[in-house]
Amino acid sequence: MAKLIDGKAYAEGLRARIAAAVASLKKDHGLTPGLAVVLVGEDPASKVYVANKAKQTVEVGMNSWEHKLPADTSEADLLALVTKLNNDPAVHGILVQMPVPKHIDSAKVLNTINPDKDVDGFHVVNVGRLSTGQDALVACTPTGCVMLAKSVLGKLDGVNAVVIGRSNIVGKPVAQLLLAENCTVTIAHSKSKDLPSIVRNADLVIAAVGRPEMVKGDWIKPGACVIDVGINRIERDGKGKLVGDCDFASCEKVAGSITPVPGGVGPMTIACLLYNTVRAACAIKGVKTPEM
Ligand code: NAD
Repeated sequence: MAKLIDGKAYAEGLRARIAAAVASLKKDHGLTPGLAVVLVGEDPASKVYVANKAKQTVEVGMNSWEHKLPADTSEADLLALVTKLNNDPAVHGILVQMPVPKHIDSAKVLNTINPDKDVDGFHVVNVGRLSTGQDALVACTPTGCVMLAKSVLGKLDGVNAVVIGRSNIVGKPVAQLLLAENCTVTIAHSKSKDLPSIVRNADLVIAAVGRPEMVKGDWIKPGACVIDVGINRIERDGKGKLVGDCDFASCEKVAGSITPVPGGVGPMTIACLLYNTVRAACAIKGVKTPEM
């Protein structure tokens, strides 16, 4: 049976290290990292995410601001708020919760954020920095995936990694991060041919597809590390249930290690957002980022 990769426990440990880093920045440099989160509209899932982000930001000792705007906020007003936050020296990280209402151009909003405060890592400048091997703020879920993979595999040099999915928020950035870790990276997607045989070559599988239990145990190379990013809500035995993109029951019999859903990649995302906010604050203030 595969070793279970406990993302909840890893994220807890990371948050404790972040809290220690924040305490030392306050003491040694008078610096309190601060994160501003902007929510437009009433999407219930987004409201929960934003509340959790604010709660965890305060728990590690950082400043937190929540800006809740009505669904009919104009694009110009949202861009004006982002610009105000860009110019606020107490704010080191800015996150505009996606999705924004349809009348707002999300790319325009993301690219208005000062790249140095872009703690979601979605600004084209950070995407470009990542893909050219420069220091960058990197998207949170991909960062969490790589931390979990390294927690079981150690150094990733030469590892054959297969990423399933090529979205801008998970698939592409995780592939770039793995390349930076010296993996041999294959990116598979909805048009890939014979996905099972591609996945069978992988020492490390990152599944970011959004299709419940698509990856089966007989696709997995014995001993491989499986990182399941998928969060899919399904009905089973008359009850709602969250499942990943991997069929956990069959994959755990073959894999060397595997993340559960829930409790795997999910808890890493906010922890990595806090991690990025500390890094952003240190870079803006010109102080060395403490170990985290
Ligand atoms: P997306 O819909 O933007 O992208 C899905 C990708 O999967 C696409 O690139 C597509 O080419 C590929 N794909 C679709 N069907 C396929 C198939 N049959 N075979 C191979 N590839 C296929 O999704 P996303 O935003 O990247 O999210 C992926 C999953 O990860 C979702 O379940 C989402 O809920 C989850 N997610 C979790 C977190 C988190 O844990 N915090 C964060 C982001 C996304």
